[in-house]
Amino acid sequence: MEKSTELLRVSKKIVIKIGSSVLSNEKGSVNRDTLKNIADQVRYLRESGKQVIIVSSGAGICGVGAINKWDRRGDINYKQALCAIGQVELMQAYKEYLKAHGIIVAQMLLTAEDFRDCNRNLNIRNTLFTLVDEGVVPIINENDSVSVDEIKIGDNDMLAAYAAVLWNADLLILLSDIDGLYDKSPKEHDNARLIREVYDLDTLVDSIEIGEKSAFGTGGIMTKISAAKEAGKHNIPTIILNGRIQDILLNVANDCETNATAFLGFDIMSGR
Ligand code: ADP
Repeated sequence: MEKSTELLRVSKKIVIKIGSSVLSNEKGSVNRDTLKNIADQVRYLRESGKQVIIVSSGAGICGVGAINKWDRRGDINYKQALCAIGQVELMQAYKEYLKAHGIIVAQMLLTAEDFRDCNRNLNIRNTLFTLVDEGVVPIINENDSVSVDEIKIGDNDMLAAYAAVLWNADLLILLSDIDGLYDKSPKEHDNARLIREVYDLDTLVDSIEIGEKSAFGTGGIMTKISAAKEAGKHNIPTIILNGRIQDILLNVANDCETNATAFLGFDIMSGR
């Protein structure tokens, strides 16, 4: 059995981060079919006894879809304004697709400072536990309109890792537009090799090449590695999967032949 299948099967509390690259199509607008399919998969996971928290990027892309005359404005206040507009669109889409399965969603917009402050940390934790215990799916994003450089987490990969740690998750899943971590950028090198299992992250990082991020991505593969490291420090394993592939989570759960990278290196199977 693939390690990713084994991990998904033994994990109850799962944080799923959905990258901009997953939700955007080639034209730079929101891929609603993918979003709907992710909602269908969340339903499947919950029906198999799992609890799910979503961390979702894509507000900027949704903003461009809503008010496309701004898509070339590079200045930061326009970018933040676009995200503010797009966040509503994004949540509307999640609400619609999950409501079809009888699932209520809740929005949580967070910044790095929220995780540094003990009181806020506790409040976030309590809210997350309450929502999940009541069967609601929290959807987290960085609060872009207050996140200037000094307080920015910077990328939702790290935000997802922080949320996973705070919620004592069993597993962090990062959905991107690639099948996992490669020894070099798969879009720049045809002979790039997928690394299926990572045990020693620090040694591995020195031996791989990091290429460009995707057109609509923010952090690139490096922030995924950092997120896996952060989660790993707390014994939470991470899996990178290609979220653009239909039913990818179902395929992993059912041990169908799937590409993935699983970050392990600690006794992940114990105590579950
Ligand atoms: P997301 O929006 O899902 O967070 P990003 O664009 O930020 O996605 O990061 C994923 C991108 O990182 C991939 O599209 C891939 O082309 C690029 N990349 C660069 N180097 C590597 C590597 N060694 N292995 C895997 N992906 C890589």
